[in-house]
Amino acid sequence: MHLQTIVTDSPIEAAQLLNRGGIVAFPTETVYGLGADVFRPESVAGIFRAKGRPSDNPLIVHLHSPDRIGEVACGLNAHADALIARFFPGPLTVVLKKRSSVPGIVSAGLPTIGVRCPSHPVAAEFLKHCHHPVAAPSANLSGRPSPTDWRTVFHDLGGRIDGLLRGEPSTIGLESTIVDCTVDPPLLLRSGAIGVEALRELVPGLQVATSCKPGEAPKSPGMKYRHYSPEASIVLLDKPPESMPPSPASAWIGLSAPPAGFARTMSCRSSEEYARVLFGFFRACDAEGIDTIYCELPPEEGIGRAIRDRLRKAAGN
Ligand code: AMP
Ligand code: MG
Repeated sequence: MHLQTIVTDSPIEAAQLLNRGGIVAFPTETVYGLGADVFRPESVAGIFRAKGRPSDNPLIVHLHSPDRIGEVACGLNAHADALIARFFPGPLTVVLKKRSSVPGIVSAGLPTIGVRCPSHPVAAEFLKHCHHPVAAPSANLSGRPSPTDWRTVFHDLGGRIDGLLRGEPSTIGLESTIVDCTVDPPLLLRSGAIGVEALRELVPGLQVATSCKPGEAPKSPGMKYRHYSPEASIVLLDKPPESMPPSPASAWIGLSAPPAGFARTMSCRSSEEYARVLFGFFRACDAEGIDTIYCELPPEEGIGRAIRDRLRKAAGN
């Protein structure tokens, strides 16, 4: 596969490429997305090809405004209405009943569809000029850490996609929180910047999906795949080690002061900063040939739950 990837700063030019059937990467506040017109199944197939994404892993549909949800979904209920009123636009995806007019390839054959309205101004401007809602997973090669800056998108997908809309690095750095509103009580399928505590203020009965065991059907199709992984091995730590033997090939990231003895360290001031820099840190470690990354687990509150989830998945647990 070789395409001429047009890199642009213009949301309108990027939308025109997409409206003509192209697949185009764009910035959002969570991570960069790789979009196609939801009503063009050949273009959506191009996303799966470019990423090497398994065809049973559904895509999230991105909308300029909640007013457009009816173009792809139906059967909203009180829980969905409340979550949408409070958290759209923002880093929340709600899973709803899919309209039959939406091609099955988008939802990997499921009767449901995930929808989200990014709050990122460049994403909003881009989506406004797209004729239809935009199906978009993260703009990385499947299995790799999600991209939080445009250069990483180009590194993974340059020559494999039609366009790349450049913007600032993503401010959140982890993928959206996903809540399935087609079940009662609603089910948290993926944690993200909007924490369980904030969701339960609106939906007190919210359940949390547990990750699936081998042989068990996953609650959300993406759960069964290896995700977010750098080349380096990941070691999870509750606390930083007192000291490490000097190790030119190891790195450390966490909330504590950096321990001595590592080739690269990143000490974050908050869980928000940890989330923002984590995937970029993984990528930088790979570029340097680091073979082991020691990651301190943050407290399990707010976005900390999402960081712990991504770290565990990156470690293959
Ligand atoms: P990505 O955009 O690559 O972060 O992946 C999107 C993830 O959203 C998938 O891996 C699924 O886990 C989840 N997802 C999307 N649509 C649905 C749906 N209709 N039902 C359940 N989970 C979904
Ligand atoms: Mg992804």
